Amino acid sequence: MSENKYPIKGACQCGSVSYTLLAEPDMVVACHCKACQKLSTSAFSLTAMVDAANIVFAGEMHDWSRVADSGNISAAKFCPKCGNRLYHFNPNTPDKIKLKPTTLEDTSILNPAAHIWVSEKQDWFVIPEGTKTFAKQP
Ligand SMILES: [Zn+2]
Ligand SMILES: [Zn+2]
Repeated sequence: MSENKYPIKGACQCGSVSYTLLAEPDMVVACHCKACQKLSTSAFSLTAMVDAANIVFAGEMHDWSRVADSGNISAAKFCPKCGNRLYHFNPNTPDKIKLKPTTLEDTSILNPAAHIWVSEKQDWFVIPEGTKTFAKQP
């Protein structure tokens, strides 16, 4: 990872919502929970922890929320046109967002530092050696 890659632009699939990520995320994690499998239509989802001050969104987004395993509210923002999820956040701590970073133009920055919820992981996916893992939410 290198700082000179920033800013990096991103957008939903249809382009109605776009954004500019101004700085490197605090951390990128891969989540293997069943909710993320459903959301990502894949074996796991990628999340980039980002300071809300380091990202600028343009375009209308819709909201959806659910109660997470921790009891916290997991709120989501998505494009009303194509349905692409842009980010998650906890309404109690809106200064930190959980970007769905596969919407970035340059996804080469997405090397997960940790894999979480590996208790729900697909058996065929092998986590790279030396990577931190957590059975559930750390
Ligand atoms: Zn869209
Ligand atoms: Zn998850």
